[in-house]
Amino acid sequence: MVKIDLQDKVAVVTGAGRGIGKAIAQSLAQAGAKLALIARTQSQLESVAQELRDKYSAQVAVFPVDLGDEAQIEPLFEEIYSQFGKIDILVNNAGITRDGLLMRMKDEDWDTVLNLNLRSIFLMVRTVSKRMLKARAGKIINISSVVGILGNPGQANYCAAKAGLIGFSKSVAKELASRGITVNVVAPGFIETDMTEKMSDKAKEAILSQVPLNRHGQPQDVAQAVLFLASPLADYLTGQVLCVDGGMAM
Ligand code: NAP
Repeated sequence: MVKIDLQDKVAVVTGAGRGIGKAIAQSLAQAGAKLALIARTQSQLESVAQELRDKYSAQVAVFPVDLGDEAQIEPLFEEIYSQFGKIDILVNNAGITRDGLLMRMKDEDWDTVLNLNLRSIFLMVRTVSKRMLKARAGKIINISSVVGILGNPGQANYCAAKAGLIGFSKSVAKELASRGITVNVVAPGFIETDMTEKMSDKAKEAILSQVPLNRHGQPQDVAQAVLFLASPLADYLTGQVLCVDGGMAM
């Protein structure tokens, strides 16, 4: 079996307080990475960090920050650089939904989702890539969604952001490739987390009927794909969209 070793690597994971981000943090910590965890809820971050320290003796710091607040992003990354010295891996996982049919969608629901799910990622990637360019290395992994490829009624804002993230990632992958930086996208299908918990059983069953592997995804399914993309095993891979969806979008 190939062992993924991320000793001495510093990884930033956004939205790491629960769900997919928490599972990503666990996978990266298990592989030996040092971690900077970001989300708004400090208590959730602290509990994830403690678990990673206890289980993997990981070096972990938490940063309770609202990434929807643009003014916080530069100081946040300055702080991460001052604590860790570098960032090797950036996983942009934090995301939200504000669902509603087009005719009823409020401007605010559009703006809030586009701001966090797309604009904040542009700001973070721009900030981090400056130092990655100097280091001539870096791995950026952006978490999109299969609905960014397929579309989904009631999620025009979310799908626009997630589709935009794919175009953004491919463009940046082309810009940064000559300096050894890779930029890839993971597009999950239906994953059992707080985000999908609120859906009705009927809606969940309807989705399951479209999943060839016939089960709902777990956060670990996504985390394993991220771990691969963050590792040297994926050194010759950039600008790709890896759908972790049980075959839903093939
Ligand atoms: P989740 O359980 O709702 O967790 C979202 C994480 O993002 C939380 O840690 C949350 O923490 C953080 N977050 C939300 N708003 C934030 C903000 N303004 N600033 C900083 N952090 C913020 O969601 P999930 O299901 O794990 O989803 C993770 C990612 O996968 C998202 O990008 C989502 O769009 C994508 N995805 C999920 C699915 C799925 O089926 N679950 C499918 C496709 C794609 P706080 O609330 O404490 O800030």
